[in-house]
Amino acid sequence: MNNTGQSVKSIYLPATITIRDLAKVIDVSPIDVIKKLMANGVMANINQQIDFDTAAIVAAEMGYEASLEIEELEKKQDFGEIPLWRQIILSEDSSQLTNRPPVVTILGHVDHGKTTLLDAIRNTNVAGEEAGGITQHIGAYQIEHDGRLITFLDTPGHAAFTAMRARGAQGADVVVLVVAADDGVMPQTKEAAAHAKAAHVPIIVALNKIDKPNADVDRVKQQLAEIGLVPDEWDGDTIVVPISAKQKKGLEDLMEAILLVADNMDIKANPHGKIIGTVIEARIDRAKGVQATLLVQNGTLEVGDVVIAGTSYGKLKAMFDHTGKKVRKAGPSSPVSVMGLNDVPHAGEMFEVVESEKDARARILARSQSQQTTDAGTKKPITLEQLFDRFQAGDVRELRLIIKADVQGSLEPIVSSLKELSEGDIAVNILHAETGNISENDVMLASASNAVIIGFNVQADSAVKHMAEAEGVSIRLYDIIYRLTEDVEKALKGMLEPEEKEVILGHAEVRAVFHISKVGNIAGSYVTDGEIRRNARIRVLRKGETVGVGAISSLKHLTEDVREIKQGYECGIAVKGFDAFEKGDILECFAIEKAIVNKDIF
Ligand code: GDP
Repeated sequence: MNNTGQSVKSIYLPATITIRDLAKVIDVSPIDVIKKLMANGVMANINQQIDFDTAAIVAAEMGYEASLEIEELEKKQDFGEIPLWRQIILSEDSSQLTNRPPVVTILGHVDHGKTTLLDAIRNTNVAGEEAGGITQHIGAYQIEHDGRLITFLDTPGHAAFTAMRARGAQGADVVVLVVAADDGVMPQTKEAAAHAKAAHVPIIVALNKIDKPNADVDRVKQQLAEIGLVPDEWDGDTIVVPISAKQKKGLEDLMEAILLVADNMDIKANPHGKIIGTVIEARIDRAKGVQATLLVQNGTLEVGDVVIAGTSYGKLKAMFDHTGKKVRKAGPSSPVSVMGLNDVPHAGEMFEVVESEKDARARILARSQSQQTTDAGTKKPITLEQLFDRFQAGDVRELRLIIKADVQGSLEPIVSSLKELSEGDIAVNILHAETGNISENDVMLASASNAVIIGFNVQADSAVKHMAEAEGVSIRLYDIIYRLTEDVEKALKGMLEPEEKEVILGHAEVRAVFHISKVGNIAGSYVTDGEIRRNARIRVLRKGETVGVGAISSLKHLTEDVREIKQGYECGIAVKGFDAFEKGDILECFAIEKAIVNKDIF
């Protein structure tokens, strides 16, 4: 209620709005808006733009509570400190917030028992399910424990789903990390822990397979402590619950631990507020059309609502819960399978409810137009330089790094010297440090958490580099420790030199090797993708390993010298300092570019 005794109505406003438009939205005469502004010491005419804060003050005086439009919040959340859905809940009137069930995602190394655990929990506890009823796999389900609900995201657990796991951690309130007691902490355990850490989501460890004779609980606890998950019985803050998913043992304890952790957090939403949530999965069914599972995160979704998710939209014709039962409404933390969207939205995409289908079409058009203008900017790598820029602007408080090194002996001093660099407000946050080459998983983690990957005496193969480019992730490789720490320090202090970046131009396959006396061997090659440029450099790859690197000394098409040669054509290539070509070698053509840095910010 506002001070005039009328109930407060919610509206959404853009970052700036003209007085004329604001008057329309709050249904008053523009003159009244101008009068209110004058009373607050602001002189403005009808076509003048005012900012959101000013508009919100005027709106409040007229009995409206204004929130910033989702698109605006999306722009702000570039650096993803807090997921958008959380920001929206935070922007709700706090007196309207009520508790909602915690949303839990189960992560862990392959074969450690995620699927078995999800099935065991579902079969023993599924809420509201009739005995013997067939459960519907919709990507999420709810169970009841002690009269309270818990929502589980049922994300696939294979390595290929790293991207989904990254999003899963962002959409969840609690992560249950499954670790097999006979196998211990493995690469994907560490990676999952890093995802949860990056998303600031608390972790409960389910120490699984304790029924196995070779289960070694103490050893695994020790390993967990080593990766920063110190068990609570050792005075740490990670709850470790021993379970056997197969024998359905310890599940009650696990549910209790989840509710305990949830009780220590503010897991709330406004069931009457802005209706938003996340697409869990979506597919097309030949008989039923598009079927999408939506997790409602705020507000209450109802049949008949017009939903928009990415570029798909539609009026909801029917909704089903995870047991396949038809429902008309779904409140916060409920997963529902819906029918009525015109197209398949992407998993992980946010959805919201809009006024009408006309409104939905207009929004999608506006989105695709702004997408076209910002496309070039959105996927640019986040470089150390840009991170510093963000520091300055106060957008990020920490420099997130993923460290890969050749051996443990170099990893440890790197990590400890980088940690020492944290200073004042700016912290170095090492999300993940491990030995081994840079992998696609590292890139996914960096992309999901806006981190920079630092490699020491390791490599990134071309698939990884391509992925990093597509995901906008910066990879920096070093072979001298002090150069590495110096660069990070410079980045923190904002004195970084322009980064030299390698750009891959194309690849060619060696089909024949010709020997020309006095010149040496020429690689008769076929350009398989991109192009080969005369003034660029070549890396010779054999079975994935680099066997030579050098500038191109000659590039010919038939007998003619050429400046470049495109995909689908044959050419003869000679490389300075290397001529031991073999049939089947891959020639990777690359150029070195200097990243353009705005010196003014330093
Ligand atoms: P996921 O890859 O993490 O989803 O692992 P799965 O759930 O598919 O389990 C991998 C294997 O471990 C399967 O053969 C399961 O039967 C087995 N498994 C899972 N949990 C347990 C457990 O608590 N005890 C024993 N002995 N085996 C288990």
